[in-house]
Amino acid sequence: MSTIRHFIAGTYAGTVDRTLPVYDPATGETHRQVAAASTAEVEHAIAVAKEAQRAWRSSSLVKRADVFFRLRQILTERADELAAIVTSEHGKVLSDAAGEVSRGIENVEFAAGLLHHLKGERAEQVSRGVDVHSVKQPVGVVACITPFNFPVMVPLWMVASAIACGNAVVLKPSEKDPSAAIWLARAFQEAGLPDGVLNVVNGDKVAVDALLDSKDIGAVSFVGSTPIARSIYERASANGKRVQALGGAKNHMVVMPDADIDGAVTAAISAAYGSAGERCMAVSVLVAVGDIADDLVEGIRSRIGELRIGPGTDPASEMGPLITREHRDKVASYVAGAAAEGGTVVVDGTQRAFEGDGFFTGVSLIDHVTTEMKVYQDEIFGPVLSVVRVNSYEEAVELINANRFGNGTAVFTRDGGTARQFEYDIEVGMVGINVPIPVPVGAFSFGGWKDSLFGDSHIYGPESIGFYTRSKVVTTRWPDHTPAQLDLGFPSNH
Ligand code: NAD
Repeated sequence: MSTIRHFIAGTYAGTVDRTLPVYDPATGETHRQVAAASTAEVEHAIAVAKEAQRAWRSSSLVKRADVFFRLRQILTERADELAAIVTSEHGKVLSDAAGEVSRGIENVEFAAGLLHHLKGERAEQVSRGVDVHSVKQPVGVVACITPFNFPVMVPLWMVASAIACGNAVVLKPSEKDPSAAIWLARAFQEAGLPDGVLNVVNGDKVAVDALLDSKDIGAVSFVGSTPIARSIYERASANGKRVQALGGAKNHMVVMPDADIDGAVTAAISAAYGSAGERCMAVSVLVAVGDIADDLVEGIRSRIGELRIGPGTDPASEMGPLITREHRDKVASYVAGAAAEGGTVVVDGTQRAFEGDGFFTGVSLIDHVTTEMKVYQDEIFGPVLSVVRVNSYEEAVELINANRFGNGTAVFTRDGGTARQFEYDIEVGMVGINVPIPVPVGAFSFGGWKDSLFGDSHIYGPESIGFYTRSKVVTTRWPDHTPAQLDLGFPSNH
């Protein structure tokens, strides 16, 4: 069985004393194993990154930008190869994996504009003969810790901007599907990134804690579940680091009575069950307003029986397996509990039989869900859609604003006034108007509110430049041959 090692200083590195299994979710077999880094190995990677960062920071911006132009070319030309790696360890269907690669490329394109992003500001003559300008300098070494569900896109959310800003990176990908991160590190190397600027350490909490506790890590970017995001935020900020820790979600899609019902049904099915519901922007709650609920539920029920569920490598499959057997069983337990709590299980996909030992499940639809039910309160992260029935727009907004998560939401309506009011009222970081998965394009930033993000900076796009740099403000006066005057007072610009 092959072992996935670390990638440090431009080469495979580290011991394989401790390993973790990497499954093929479509067969249930352990087809690889991944090394779990020790504290000493992580400290070594950080030391390598610190050294490499000094030289990288001093390279010209134009030379830095070249790396991203070449990387874009590599990613575009070899997208299928990378998508196949994602499918082999994550399980998502190949077309979905290719979609993830293309969204990651947007972050590379944004980073290629680094010369523009890193421009500072200047004010002339703030006092007589005095000018002020600001510059953005790298924070040093950045730790990036990523989840299993987007093994290409989420690392690129972080790594592209961090490196563009002149930092070095130690990336700790999910131990469940680590091969894509190694592939990316090699692609960066091929694109001309000097060795040591991007390092990958594999493993679990041991590796993460070593990153959070290192005095040489300047900033921490994390994406994962809410309990871990909260603990990462607390530990890293207690250690004096800047942190952005993106957590889980419970995304509501509101359907107003005036909406195009067929369009809303199609959108809900795609957004709830795509990638087996293992997306932080998946729709997990459908909020039916007024008397359209029966039509919506029937529309979804009548179509989800046809969904083709199978190995991600089969072009006919629309949905693949879940990430692990344990996760599949956990998803099933929510569906099983929903009826006892008073929900109406319209379709129970957990009863669907599949051949072999893959981690497959069918899709589920639960109607008459209320806020007291576990199926509503928790992030299930599987192909389970709950329907909550409300009487009015106001009730829908109140429901969403009371939810502890605030990642994404959507409203389906034909009424511009309702859409505008929803945008204004809703306490959620990313909003779709007739768009069910409103993941912002790479030139904007991505981030939720409330328990979906700890820290004050959204990820990728313009906000990432601020996060990965420290600003320095320089006040300048050049001798103008007027004799200097002694003045012990606080400098005034008047
Ligand atoms: P996870 O929290 O289990 O793991 C994320 C990372 O943290 C992994 O690298 C993992 O090795 C590490 N980790 C796990 N337990 C740890 C611990 N006790 N201490 C230190 N590090 C630990 O998340 P996951 O299951 O890989 O990913 C799914 C979750 O990520 C979902 O909750 C999903 O909503 C969320 N997610 C959020 C976003 C977003 O943008 N908000 C995007 C993608 C995924």
